[in-house]
Amino acid sequence: MRREPDPMTRTFIVTATPPTPNGDFHVGHLSGPYLGADIFARYQRMCGNRVRYVCSADRNQSYVVTTAERLGKNPDRLATACHGEMRQTLEAADIRMDAFNMVDGEHVAFVQSFLAKVEANGHAVRKPWRFPYSVAEDRYLFESFVSGHCPVCWSPTAGAICEACGHPNDTRTLELVSSSRSAGDIDYREVEIAVLELERFRSEFTAFYESKRGIWRPHVVEFAFEMLSRPLPDYPLTYPSDWGIPAPFTGLEGQVVNVWAEMLPGLVNSTRIAEGEKATGDGSETGLWSPRRQAELVEFLGYDNSFFFTFVHPALAWAHGDCRIVDTILTNEFFELENFKFSTSKGHLIWARDLLRERDVNAVRFYLALANPEYQKMNFTQSAMDELVEVRLSRPYREAASGILEAAAALGLSGQRWRIDEQTAARLGGVLARFARFHEIETFSPQRIAEHLSQLLVRIAAGSRHALSPRLARAEAIEEVRYLAGLFQLVLPLVTRPLMPAFSDRLGEAFARTATDTWPASLAGQECQIEAATYDQALAAWVDQQPALRRAS
Ligand SMILES: [Zn+2]
Repeated sequence: MRREPDPMTRTFIVTATPPTPNGDFHVGHLSGPYLGADIFARYQRMCGNRVRYVCSADRNQSYVVTTAERLGKNPDRLATACHGEMRQTLEAADIRMDAFNMVDGEHVAFVQSFLAKVEANGHAVRKPWRFPYSVAEDRYLFESFVSGHCPVCWSPTAGAICEACGHPNDTRTLELVSSSRSAGDIDYREVEIAVLELERFRSEFTAFYESKRGIWRPHVVEFAFEMLSRPLPDYPLTYPSDWGIPAPFTGLEGQVVNVWAEMLPGLVNSTRIAEGEKATGDGSETGLWSPRRQAELVEFLGYDNSFFFTFVHPALAWAHGDCRIVDTILTNEFFELENFKFSTSKGHLIWARDLLRERDVNAVRFYLALANPEYQKMNFTQSAMDELVEVRLSRPYREAASGILEAAAALGLSGQRWRIDEQTAARLGGVLARFARFHEIETFSPQRIAEHLSQLLVRIAAGSRHALSPRLARAEAIEEVRYLAGLFQLVLPLVTRPLMPAFSDRLGEAFARTATDTWPASLAGQECQIEAATYDQALAAWVDQQPALRRAS
């Protein structure tokens, strides 16, 4: 039976850019959209909202082919193996998606019929397109098959998008074109393909991005207006290639669907899987993505993919006619390793699974949030991670727990039970509200969540020392310690839940908290008791899981 939705309940479709299954996740990937979307989804669920966090493996990327060629592997088997590894790494990182599916027959049928509707609406326009062609490789060069320099910022880049500036290029605008795989000669051949004319949607785009000024992160809005300052490019919906989904357009047999055009219907299909809807393979059935349904679409992506999500996908949705466009895009900048870009091909990387094997998942999530490249690029080093986790989290956590115990013992509060009164509940509620702010869409910031968590622990430790001050009246000291215990026992398991769910579970267990999966309206009336045994268990919840980080002090 379908339960009637509560009118106050919001429904969120949360996406993170489908990763290319040509390798496992490295730490740079993890710090980007996947962790952010997970924190957001977990918080919204605590608020009682309905969330579908969806993603998939982007199997048809040309990068799967070029990586397989480099490794001497079969691309199909490589993609399947990497999808399995990625699934395990997401699990090890406590990142829970509602769908992380692989391309299958249903996906293919859905994408094809979605794009057939785009064509039926007159938006798959046939145009001649000039492609570089490698005679030695016997293929047209685009995306990962081609390399050159960006026409906007001059960085070395592959085809389609420049990682450095996020601007699109195509096989006609890329400078100093060569094959990425061989040194042989290239010639140019003209092929008729289907394109989406982005310029047709100029007025929709202009109104849309005007409405996002000052609301979305500035880099992506600035990018949109720079794009709008010039004629918008035609976007290829098909490429002459044999790797990908056969184009569903008559006369273009032998071409495949551009993966970035495949991605939007792919995400719609993943959402249908997450919703447990029956497979119809009918791309006009957009389910939760239909604008007629109540839902909000929140997309997490690396800044370098902005063009696809800010121009290609909205234009495709408008061209389709029954597909929602994004409400909020949350971009991240690059996370670098020792001041250079993570690079799988150059071996300059740390695999996420290796880091998660050597370090506790909660420490990894805390650090990736604290050092999150939200507005500018950030730098990862293993030594900085160890030091920051110790100084900003582990040590203040130990000092907060032992400080409360000592102060309670000195004031004769040990073992006493009490209930949180309205006044203390209001103070604790203020702390919860501060954390809530950085979990909400408009002010979402894992960096500030981690910062505030660290500062809260430092504040608790300082409060416990203050309570022992001889200048303080006994009643005031007791009130302070009870407030600190409320923060530690009641607030901490809640505010750590989206960021460090496994730690929150252990902490909640130590204090016999059963309702840590709900963000409460008030903590008034909740019971507290300061007992040495439970605080020891709480200390063990963190310290015992951190053998690698426990160092001589
Ligand atoms: Zn560029």
